[in-house]
Amino acid sequence: MRTSFRIFEVFGIEVKVHVSLIAILALFIYAFYVSYPPFGFANFPPTTRIILAVVASILMFGGILAHELAHSLVARRFGVKVKGILLFIFGGLAMMDKIPESPREEFQIAIAGPGMSFLIGFICLALAYIPIKEISALFMLLAYFNIILGVFNLIPAFPMDGGRVLRSILAGRMSYLRATRAAAETGKMIAVLMGIFGLFYNPWLILIALFVYMGANEEERVVTLENVLGNVKVKDIMTKDVITVTPDMKISELVEMMLKNKHLGYPVVQDGKIVGIVTLKDIINANPDSTVGEVMSKEVITISPDATAFEAFKLMSEKNIGRIIVVENGELKGIISRSDLMRVTEILEVMEVLGWKRS
Ligand code: ZN
Repeated sequence: MRTSFRIFEVFGIEVKVHVSLIAILALFIYAFYVSYPPFGFANFPPTTRIILAVVASILMFGGILAHELAHSLVARRFGVKVKGILLFIFGGLAMMDKIPESPREEFQIAIAGPGMSFLIGFICLALAYIPIKEISALFMLLAYFNIILGVFNLIPAFPMDGGRVLRSILAGRMSYLRATRAAAETGKMIAVLMGIFGLFYNPWLILIALFVYMGANEEERVVTLENVLGNVKVKDIMTKDVITVTPDMKISELVEMMLKNKHLGYPVVQDGKIVGIVTLKDIINANPDSTVGEVMSKEVITISPDATAFEAFKLMSEKNIGRIIVVENGELKGIISRSDLMRVTEILEVMEVLGWKRS
């Protein structure tokens, strides 16, 4: 099922809306309808109330869009490809290729969003002085929303912009990896404090704290892996003598083979050509008398021996697979598995702790 829809394009950037946004839009219209100023329009007559609530909800997402656009346009100036902006239940997301590791550039990209939110917030605040009470109430609410959006995003924790701002400041003084770890730890600490505070005052904060904690964890994990695995080639860590099977092998024979050599996945080769891959998952419900050819996956995902181990990791995560066949010029060179990557990461991290130079 398609879950997001393209609505328009600005500055050549595609803007998409996720279906979850419709639910949250309805919720906000309701919240604005029943709340009193400055967070709603409950003091106006019913028709005005509805119109104001709908207009405010839509303009609110306009504010989120402007925030993401600011990130995107600054990023594009630094040569980052922006795939599009997605508006969804938690707000907005600019889908960009890798953000530059240059601290100055990351800082400018990160700060642009909150900067835009503050700018819009203060313009709305000024417009709230227009002496027509409907218009004044509308702009007052938008001023609050955009300023809160700016402040919230400056919390120095991933995945908020403040986390990136903090990392870029730290990265001027230490390695990118260490800066990420320090920023992630700060983020987790803030999340814990936010959670405890939420326990007593506002349950919504617990939800946000959870979101912040997971974001910090994820960023740290990905950057660590990238730093460690990005310097290693697939050919250096792959298993070279690959055991292959043929499509006419019986499942019962395959199980015996798995027990003997303890690998969980095998390329399937016929007449010197790779025709599939068979893993433990494929044989769970198979009849022992059926053949490998009947249960194997025919879609074979391969990687070059010169790719980095991090590329292999990304490919495994994207395709949700546990192993990739390494192929060069159509020839089978080896196989690399998720557990290989994890073991290599552990070893290299220990080496780093011991102060060994990676070569
Ligand atoms: Zn932002």
